[in-house]
Amino acid sequence: MNIQQQLENLQLAKSKKDVKYEQLTQTYLHQILAEYKSDHKVYNYLNLNESTELKDKAGVYLMFAEQEKNIIFTYVGESTKIWNRFKRHLDEIKKGNKKLSLYKKINYRINTHNLKLEDIKFIVIADNLEDENQRLALEVWNIYKTKTKNYSMNSKICSRRLKCPLGHGVCRTKMQFVIDDNQIKMIISGISKSKKCKERFLITETGNIILKNK
Ligand SMILES: [Zn+2]
Repeated sequence: MNIQQQLENLQLAKSKKDVKYEQLTQTYLHQILAEYKSDHKVYNYLNLNESTELKDKAGVYLMFAEQEKNIIFTYVGESTKIWNRFKRHLDEIKKGNKKLSLYKKINYRINTHNLKLEDIKFIVIADNLEDENQRLALEVWNIYKTKTKNYSMNSKICSRRLKCPLGHGVCRTKMQFVIDDNQIKMIISGISKSKKCKERFLITETGNIILKNK
């Protein structure tokens, strides 16, 4: 398959809900999950209590569920205390919280697919990220990375707390794909909320925010 076709498939995989694109989407999700898993430990409620390495760590994480050959959902979040956040996610899922839309959506998937609590898994994408803006930017990058129409539980992409390089709020972010050196690259950019600030910026894979064209 040439690179143009790969790009077309990638865009279909991420943007379509229709059942005829289902296999493309699952293939995409398996591929990125394999990347995340290749250099990160996978946690679930069975090994979380002894996972003291996570205590009091600030970072960005991926929560997901998979069953046999299917990915059931993905969700990217950030927290100043990821271990506590994982616990809270599991508690709310167990309680069947119906008030918050995230848990409503997750519980619907769990019931539909008969998942067990241990099928809910976590990967720490980055820890020791004390800098809030870097954490928020990295969260945005990974939400875009994991975003698919049918399986992403992230309803919004950019936190209101994210700041442009000059310290203003951020009004919107966008994702584009470019072909560079016969490879597909995902480019995430953002624009400041301030009318005076014309700065457009890029968000890198490591959560750094850099001014465009500089
Ligand atoms: Zn600005």
